[in-house]
Amino acid sequence: MKYRHSTAQSADYLRLALKRMSQQDAGLHPASYALWYEYVAGTNPVLKAAVDAQIERDGQLNEATTHALYARHVADFDTQTASRIGDSVNQIVEQISESATTADEQASRFGGSLASWSDALNLPTSHGSLASSVEDILRGTREMQAAIGVLQTRLEESRREVQQLRQEVARAREEALIDALTGLTNRKGFDLALDACLKEVTPETHGPCLLMIDLDHFKRLNDTLGHVFGDQVLSSVGQILRANVKGKDTATRYGGEEFAVILPQTPRGGAIGLAEALRATVFASRVRRSGKKEAMIGNISVSIGVADHIAGESATEFVSRADRALYTAKAQGRNRVVLAPRPQSAGVQ
Ligand code: GH3
Ligand code: MG
Ligand code: MG
Repeated sequence: MKYRHSTAQSADYLRLALKRMSQQDAGLHPASYALWYEYVAGTNPVLKAAVDAQIERDGQLNEATTHALYARHVADFDTQTASRIGDSVNQIVEQISESATTADEQASRFGGSLASWSDALNLPTSHGSLASSVEDILRGTREMQAAIGVLQTRLEESRREVQQLRQEVARAREEALIDALTGLTNRKGFDLALDACLKEVTPETHGPCLLMIDLDHFKRLNDTLGHVFGDQVLSSVGQILRANVKGKDTATRYGGEEFAVILPQTPRGGAIGLAEALRATVFASRVRRSGKKEAMIGNISVSIGVADHIAGESATEFVSRADRALYTAKAQGRNRVVLAPRPQSAGVQ
């Protein structure tokens, strides 16, 4: 992990970083936060020198210089780490905010007791001087209450800022797992989803199953109709997957013209059924070729390999079994679904 500061320490850095961020002409986004966090923590001397030089030249950082410095000096900053920092910082601020609320309530109660005490002492008695010192204490308490009120407002503001930073970090993290062309999960998202899915496998689980999908003769399609149209086809297949893969299931653009679907709780029969439905839907679809005479192109086909998980099988073995089934589908003539054989020793589910 890149940032190993204690929660108290990172809360200090957060405060310092926010102050520096607010003095720049750039948004309060995760890139800016990462840059200023490292700057105030003093963990990245080269970055610090570069930031100082930039500020000396321009007075402050703007959007472009912030991003350039971030890309150059903090680029290996990983979004999961950022999210963890955001979480822990938020927790601290919430805790402090809670303590301030409690302190405020206590001061209020204390003030109330003193007030009633003072009233009692103001009854016609000879203890006037005692009553006036209680008045002093009461005034002091009210001042303390007001000060705590200000502290609470400040903490509330910081809490909102941290919340906003966290949301931005979370958004950046999600975006890092999405393929831009199809809107499906990308390869990194696939790896995370498959790991999570395999961790939850129990002997009672139906599935998981995995589909590996590859467009047939896609090179030829690109060569004859152009890459732009090729991209439109990929996007259209992405839409078909998005429309048909829902809930716990994950559809991914695995890379190039390959897609994958993880079905965590679907038995083999269901997986073959879905694969066949996807294959048929793609084959029946027509993709518009903008500005051309033969506007609608059809007969786009995919080959699909299906694997049902064998107990104890690793993610890599699981994917390569589905991949081998996919290549069998290609070898058997394409535009078809093939189920991966299970080794004899694996038994029948
Ligand atoms: P097969 O049926 O055996 O899968 O043949 P194929 O032509 O689909 O497979 P091959 O691996 O030979 O070629 C894949 C092609 O996919 C080559 C590459 O130009 C194209 N491709 C990969 N990614 C993209 C992309 O993002 N956009 C476009 N338009 N084409 C892509
Ligand atoms: Mg292909
Ligand atoms: Mg391929």
